[in-house]
Amino acid sequence: MVRFPGVDYLQFDSLLTEQELLVRQTARQFVDDRVLPVIRDAFDKAEFPKQLIPEMAQLGFLGANLEGYGCAGMNNIEYGLIMQELERGDSGLRSFVSVQGALVMYPIHAFGSEPQKERWLPRLQSGEAVGCFGLTEPQFGSNPSGMLTTAEKRGNAWVLNGEKTWITNGSIAEIAVVWARTAEGIRGFLVEKGTKGYSAGDLHGKLSMRASVTSSLHFADCVIPAENQLPCAKGLKAALSCLSQARFGIGWGVIGAAMDCYETARSYSVTRKQFDNRPLASHQLVQEKLAWMITEITKAQLLAYQVAKLKDAGKAEPAHISMLKRNNVTIALECARLSRDLLGANGIMDEYPIMRHMCNLETVKTYEGTDHIHALVIGERVTGIPAYR
Ligand SMILES: Cc1cc2nc3c(=O)[nH]c(=O)nc-3n(C[C@H](O)[C@H](O)[C@H](O)COP(=O)(O)OP(=O)(O)OC[C@H]3O[C@@H](n4cnc5c(N)ncnc54)[C@H](O)[C@@H]3O)c2cc1C
Repeated sequence: MVRFPGVDYLQFDSLLTEQELLVRQTARQFVDDRVLPVIRDAFDKAEFPKQLIPEMAQLGFLGANLEGYGCAGMNNIEYGLIMQELERGDSGLRSFVSVQGALVMYPIHAFGSEPQKERWLPRLQSGEAVGCFGLTEPQFGSNPSGMLTTAEKRGNAWVLNGEKTWITNGSIAEIAVVWARTAEGIRGFLVEKGTKGYSAGDLHGKLSMRASVTSSLHFADCVIPAENQLPCAKGLKAALSCLSQARFGIGWGVIGAAMDCYETARSYSVTRKQFDNRPLASHQLVQEKLAWMITEITKAQLLAYQVAKLKDAGKAEPAHISMLKRNNVTIALECARLSRDLLGANGIMDEYPIMRHMCNLETVKTYEGTDHIHALVIGERVTGIPAYR
């Protein structure tokens, strides 16, 4: 049974096709029925709800906007609406689906050999295999071009050495897409779990994204066959193109977190009474916060919709996606903070989803290009002057 009423101030739904509404309904129902009953406990115990993987796979959520190899071939609005609903459940779940689809299946689909595609894409789509994406290193986050991990060609093999960290799904992944420096520049490789010299260990103590696995990957003279190189992934721009796919999903996903916070605060403030037995919502200062949230959520929806339309037409640029990611994460985080405030003391309790969303969104602000980095991408786009260094 679907319990979430949705948030639609400006007849956003009138922009959606029957099929898009159906996809959202399916994802919404999945979140209400399967995610919400378990997510509080999963976040508390810092466990990723792995049991949901086969169900998400069966619903076509993994690599949903890719064509062939068992993928659902959805358009980017359908894909975005899935991300929105999943992140309404929890950013950790949406992160899992983002990594699997945009950062593992996409690079294999876009840059892989035919045997790599045939071997991995159906298994990743069905959830039989989990993947991870290793770009960030302990010394290089916002500036991955400085990476120290190397891949050296020795006969018919590559030898990897180095470390990746903050890697979502790292220790549960059967396959890692790893970016390393070679004599010809940065290249992408597929490293299988169990390969000698490859190990993964989890990061503990996170106060954000607790229902998500985050790991470090270690490569010590790790030998992989030459055919595990992604043949068409040349230079850092290949890795960045994967990030564009994932950031697009984030731009939609965080709308779900913002909606959940807003709707929780709205319904709370019309029922909770203070001063002369009047609802909180009868006070102007409270209404101003709700008005700000619904306005920003509505603008975020329209931004996401337009970028999806551009993406479907092959016209979305990285700088468009930077605006989508940066703006929507910023407003979602602010919605979480305002909603927390409107619930007073109750706002800090895990009985309500707000504090969990707020904690998660702090990660979302940082990963996949920080807020600052996306501001610089937009700045470069409108001035022609790169200001990263
Ligand atoms: C839970 C989680 C999951 C993640 N999952 C993955 C994953 O699956 N795969 C992966 O490869 N990585 C992953 N990451 C890593 C993430 O992408 C990086 O944390 C991010 O790129 C930022 O790098 P950093 O943490 O090293 O911060 P830094 O680059 O050290 O930045 C710190 C601060 O300095 C600012 N800054 C840096 N450079 C500039 C500049 N030129 N101008 C202005 N400000 C600047 C940043 O904006 C930020 O505020 C994950 C991170 C988290 C927290």
